[in-house]
Amino acid sequence: MSHRDDTEFWACPHGRDARQGCVTCYEEAVDPDLALPLWDVAVWFTSERPIPVKALQDVHRHGRRFLLDKLSAPHIYLLTGHSHAAGGGQAVAGVVGFLVHNQHVVDEFVVRDTRAVRLSPPPNLSSGERVWP
Ligand SMILES: [Zn+2]
Repeated sequence: MSHRDDTEFWACPHGRDARQGCVTCYEEAVDPDLALPLWDVAVWFTSERPIPVKALQDVHRHGRRFLLDKLSAPHIYLLTGHSHAAGGGQAVAGVVGFLVHNQHVVDEFVVRDTRAVRLSPPPNLSSGERVWP
């Protein structure tokens, strides 16, 4: 079994699975503690219904630091954003939490893959601490 299947590994500080998103993590990231590490987060997800182009373009206005792109494969989208968080799980939970919080953009989605790369403090860190998971 890999750590990717481990629910404890994926739990955010509020006990939610980061891949399901956590609105509390998202809301905390709106007014973050800037002393926390900064993460560059990418979330690949599929949407039950196509997301209108206008909604894709509007995301950066709602989310300030978020971008939503449609990939060439059908129904696959990539959400990227920066987030201050103590750990990668919390950073991912907050970015997926943006989707949960903005159901007018995406009503039904399934997260397929995630990646969080720690941007700061600048990496004198091993890749295990810098790239999550
Ligand atoms: Zn949370």
